[in-house]
Amino acid sequence: MRYLVLSDLHSNHEATRAVVGAVPPGGFEGVVVLGDWVGYGASPNEVVDLVRKLQPCAAIRGNHDKVVAGIDSGEEFNRIAREAALINRRLLSRENLGFLEALPRGPLRVADSFHIAHGTPLDEDEYLVEAWEAAAVFEAAEFSLCFFGHTHLPGAFVLRNGKVTLLQPERPQAILNLEPGARYLINPGSVGQPRDQDPRAAYALYDAQSRQVVFQRVPYAVHETRSRMLEAGLPAILGERLQFGI
Ligand code: ZN
Repeated sequence: MRYLVLSDLHSNHEATRAVVGAVPPGGFEGVVVLGDWVGYGASPNEVVDLVRKLQPCAAIRGNHDKVVAGIDSGEEFNRIAREAALINRRLLSRENLGFLEALPRGPLRVADSFHIAHGTPLDEDEYLVEAWEAAAVFEAAEFSLCFFGHTHLPGAFVLRNGKVTLLQPERPQAILNLEPGARYLINPGSVGQPRDQDPRAAYALYDAQSRQVVFQRVPYAVHETRSRMLEAGLPAILGERLQFGI
């Protein structure tokens, strides 16, 4: 089974559309979504509708989904993120708000084969950035492969022979063959708000049979996204950062 792995779409319709359009028909059989469908961007309904049409086989919520859906107050958000969450909430249809509200918390086990989480398999809101943090997660949670998001930074933490290494994908594409016996925490990067100084939308493809992960990037019309965000009354900085991937 081949999976399309999507994370941190953040109401960016142009980026989500580019990702879906970049994968050839028949290029995947299942879609998994690691959370943060909405927040920051101007097109929450378009993104939720488009991804729901793909009929994900597994999907979880992210911290922005919780705030937009009203499950979390967003107290810990900065002013700009909170403002964007309120605008997203106003834009969303009742139906899509209900969908976000009902999204389960990670981690989730997918097809007896791997896990998905938003922050980490231990805490949906935790940021996993450093190898020592990944080491603590490997120690405390049971899984052999977990896809996660939240940091918007593509990469893989590998636990091999008791040592954790961080692999950062080369651009524009990097192939990681999973080794038997090793354990993995893999971040596909963010579809809608990349933060690794590459503005292109990021996603991953995972082939569970050949045990291969491909990190992918695809360009999209960032200027269009920016104008839609300004029209929606979102803080200008949120559109500006998309041009730089920061
Ligand atoms: Zn996010």
